[in-house]
Amino acid sequence: MFENEGVEIPCPKCGQKIAQRLGDLTRQDDHQLDCPGCGAAIRLDTKELRKGIEATEQTLDDLKRRFQDLFR
Ligand SMILES: [Zn+2]
Repeated sequence: MFENEGVEIPCPKCGQKIAQRLGDLTRQDDHQLDCPGCGAAIRLDTKELRKGIEATEQTLDDLKRRFQDLFR
């Protein structure tokens, strides 16, 4: 559900913001990209990010269920 959301990752070397899609970031446990500004290889540990997304989706599901319960 968040896969097409865009995020910007600042390069740790030059500060340039690199646009990425969440779906691309969370496909693997880590994600590597090259900064278009300075060429630095940036490696991201996306495990925590993925956990956060899963937790958010669960909370949303939970919220929907609670909402439906109200009208039962
Ligand atoms: Zn850079």
